[in-house]
Amino acid sequence: MEIIRSRPETASAPSDWFTGRAYIDEIAPTDSPSRLRAYRVHFAPGARTGWHKHPNGQVIHVTEGVGLAQRRGGDVEQIRAGDTVRFDAGEDHWHGAAPGHFMTHLALHEADENGNDAYWGEKVSDEEYFAGSPEGRAA
Ligand code: MN
Repeated sequence: MEIIRSRPETASAPSDWFTGRAYIDEIAPTDSPSRLRAYRVHFAPGARTGWHKHPNGQVIHVTEGVGLAQRRGGDVEQIRAGDTVRFDAGEDHWHGAAPGHFMTHLALHEADENGNDAYWGEKVSDEEYFAGSPEGRAA
């Protein structure tokens, strides 16, 4: 047993993979044999991940605010505190804050045998991001 009183400092989400300002707290240590990965991610309004896939799928659970999520080929969906979203293994998708709203979620997934937990593609364009937003570009 190990009690970890404070995780390493909150990290800025890598700008290669995210648009806008997002901050990541690592909850589950990654230096163990377990493939479990758990993060708390805070997104500023308008911030979102790029398109990506998880080798073993992912669950996100929204703890605060209002966000957006989309799978490739699907509609942009609004997500709110209390909502859980499951992504299939290899399903191309993105998630982030809604325009004008902060959003925080827990992200839970398993790395693959090589320790990779996400495979990143292109960023989500403003056109894609605002496609599902009733606020539109005015936000
Ligand atoms: Mn994801």
